[in-house]
Amino acid sequence: MKVSLELISRFVENFLTLNYLENKPLKPLLLAYFVTFRCDLKCQYCEYAEDPNFKNYPELETEQALQLLRLARQGVPAIAFSGGEPLLRDDIVVLVKAAKALGFKPISLFTNGLKLPEKEAILNDLDFLQISLDTLDEKKQDAIFGTKGIAGTIKEHIIHYARQQTRRNFRINLNAVITPNTIEDIFALYFFARSIGVRLTVCPQLYYGKPVSSLVYNPRYQSLINQLIFLKKNDDTIMDTDSFLDHICSFKPYRCYPYLTPRIYPDGELVGPCPIIESMKCNLLKIGSWKKTFQLLIEKCGERYVCQNPCFLPCYLETSTLMIKPWKSLRELIRLGKANSNKEEPKRL
Ligand code: SF4
Ligand code: SF4
Repeated sequence: MKVSLELISRFVENFLTLNYLENKPLKPLLLAYFVTFRCDLKCQYCEYAEDPNFKNYPELETEQALQLLRLARQGVPAIAFSGGEPLLRDDIVVLVKAAKALGFKPISLFTNGLKLPEKEAILNDLDFLQISLDTLDEKKQDAIFGTKGIAGTIKEHIIHYARQQTRRNFRINLNAVITPNTIEDIFALYFFARSIGVRLTVCPQLYYGKPVSSLVYNPRYQSLINQLIFLKKNDDTIMDTDSFLDHICSFKPYRCYPYLTPRIYPDGELVGPCPIIESMKCNLLKIGSWKKTFQLLIEKCGERYVCQNPCFLPCYLETSTLMIKPWKSLRELIRLGKANSNKEEPKRL
């Protein structure tokens, strides 16, 4: 199973806390560790590519990053390495290997896939590899990436590494950002993903967590999401939960529990309660203990942070809605774990 028993029991513990222990904080499920804000692409919708706050952002040395992982493991069962482009870090293979040795499970890596051949040893230690791809139309994709001739290469990498999933025991999911311009391209991506035996996740184009206005009340967009919900009943290609798809369809507000998904920036700062609100930052390495760092977050933001203006950042929406319909979600978690440990060879193109 790619979902650990520790993660499932943490989920059940949170459910009991939520329902029977009023005001006790929920415990983290997944650490999002942004190892760098550097990137070799310049996607049209990317908030990191243009924001001067993220330029030359300080990063931890390898030894510091390893210590950060050890400290974070005291409080979090699962981890996603993100960025920027995490494969730009020279030591990323070492960090992922260390995360595995520390017992994080599942371990995910969010990447644009360009540097995968240089760092393919990383695949031996990953559970999930998420690669960004918004359309099969290479010209359109290159325009989104802000490059020329890269989309075809990334597609080749996806096909190549899809064939290695069973042997190396990891699963790929393609993550498509749905923009008003790519709504009609998502089906082709779905069939592509299905034909090569990888999964698909989607996310509406957001600007600092809010959907771009041309997706809100957009009947083409809503029809797409409803059709994805329908397709999800037929096979395991679509990995988003029903609750997530339901909320992004009409951008229905939800109760966010941001502590479920703590986020750490490349300099080791825990950003709380989330990157949109950012009412506090404290450095896990300097504090030297996960418990003390998390306590500071709670003191500053409250035992149960109540968001006045919910956004739709997927990692917060997915984990929070897991808590809203817990039994349905638990079934989804188990379904996902089983589907992803399926030993069948992915279908070839
Ligand atoms: S690959 Fe990711 S981090 Fe890089 S520019 Fe695109 S969206 Fe931003
Ligand atoms: S809904 Fe968005 S802005 Fe509000 S706490 Fe959650 S992640 Fe932050």
